[in-house]
Amino acid sequence: MDPLKALTDAERKPYWLDSTAKPEPQARLFGNTTADLAVVGGGFSGLWTALMAKERDPSLDVVLLEGRRIGWAASGRNGGFAMATLTHGIANGLERWPEEISTLEHMGLRNLDEIGETVTRYGIDCGYERTGELHVATEPWQLEEMHESAQVARELGVRFDVMDADRVRAEVDSPTYVGGMWERDGCAMLDPARLAWGLRQACLDLGVRIYERTPVRSVKDVPAGLDLLTPYGTVKAARVALGTGVFQPLLRRLKHFLVPVYDYALMTEPLSAEQLASVGWHNRQGVGDAANQFHYYRLTQDNRILWGGYDAVYYNGGKIKPEYEQRDETFVKLAEHFFTTFPQLSGLRFTHRWGGIIDTCSRFSAFYGQSHGGRLAYAVGYTGMGVGATRFGANVMLDMLSGERTERTELRMVKEKPIPFPPEPIRSAGIQMTRWSIARADLNQGRRNLWLRTLDRMGLGFDS
Ligand SMILES: Cc1cc2nc3c(=O)[nH]c(=O)nc-3n(C[C@H](O)[C@H](O)[C@H](O)COP(=O)(O)OP(=O)(O)OC[C@H]3O[C@@H](n4cnc5c(N)ncnc54)[C@H](O)[C@@H]3O)c2cc1C
Repeated sequence: MDPLKALTDAERKPYWLDSTAKPEPQARLFGNTTADLAVVGGGFSGLWTALMAKERDPSLDVVLLEGRRIGWAASGRNGGFAMATLTHGIANGLERWPEEISTLEHMGLRNLDEIGETVTRYGIDCGYERTGELHVATEPWQLEEMHESAQVARELGVRFDVMDADRVRAEVDSPTYVGGMWERDGCAMLDPARLAWGLRQACLDLGVRIYERTPVRSVKDVPAGLDLLTPYGTVKAARVALGTGVFQPLLRRLKHFLVPVYDYALMTEPLSAEQLASVGWHNRQGVGDAANQFHYYRLTQDNRILWGGYDAVYYNGGKIKPEYEQRDETFVKLAEHFFTTFPQLSGLRFTHRWGGIIDTCSRFSAFYGQSHGGRLAYAVGYTGMGVGATRFGANVMLDMLSGERTERTELRMVKEKPIPFPPEPIRSAGIQMTRWSIARADLNQGRRNLWLRTLDRMGLGFDS
């Protein structure tokens, strides 16, 4: 199949956000107001924080301020893999916090259970399916690594089933697979935009005041708390939670720890019954291949395939621009890889193509902190795995703001910060060198060159 032909009619916008379920925006903030808690950011981080603040204490006066529209950014345009992991996978967590990894794995599973319970409790129609994730190997070295990972996971009480090529192909059929591993409990599939809109409605129903198209320009210390300055009004809040993702941070210190990385995805038209039968996929797992430059893919409720990943693009200088959300070169590459993986789907068309920004930090998993005398808390840096973990981060922020010491706040993972990225232009040079080295490793049986090994030793990395 000619990838260009398959892409011809694809709309240049995120599939999930292109939906009739998209609600009308809440009004902007005009004038001044007060709040016990002001949440900045209307992605998953902010929405979970506002919702759980009201669940913890219904009498709390909570305001949420979103600069654009609820869920417009990463939260409404991602792959919709809600993962249990809080550490960007067991291997990363084990390397950084070996004494905590077992606790972190169990906390992550509980967090994912609670996401499922919340979806049911509020009747959020987001296609939530706890199908797990199928990690597929397309090279023998990837399968060897899977056997090692499964062994480690078993020792931590987590079940990963390693499968040979026949068993994997009985699940999802691609001639490129040499084996795989099914992580049955650790992942749920969902429609991320409908989750964000459902959380928004749940917040409104519990009395959270949401202001959209209301960017917070700055945070100012005042005697009774903090003032959040917006274009047409100010919120005077006793406590503030920042769920602002990768955007121009309101706390200057955060910019040393975060880089914006663009990730891209395609959505196909719905598969016919025959096309679906040719792939199998009866258990509807999310799928990810095990290369360093990996693809992730999944079925939607109406049996389209979302196909994303591989290229993780850092634009020099860390620039964020709307035009970066489209990248022809990447879409053609992704389409080619799609038809190599599923040659039986030749003729299938893509209906949507889009990109989004990942808030990448050097430890690949979120970090947390406080400022302004403990009155402001933040959780950022999810590095492409925030659909599930943002709810955990929201709980950390609420724990911190309450002044309580909890099982979460006492974790070393929560107390420590990642290593900052070096300043520009060294930052850009280092990241491009790392991307080049990662691509080389995939061509070289996963073998990491001196540059990657040095970064590994320093605990510094780059990922999407
Ligand atoms: C293409 C793509 C695919 C992905 N796939 C997956 C996946 O399958 N699984 C997974 O776990 N993760 C995935 N991710 C990552 C995941 O989407 C994010 O980790 C998660 O959505 C982060 O949520 P957030 O609320 O912290 O940030 P965001 O969703 O970026 O939300 C931040 C919000 O804050 C607002 N904001 C920022 N500054 C201000 C301000 N000063 N005033 C007011 N508002 C402000 C922004 O407008 C934005 O709405 C993917 C990301 C992308 C881009």
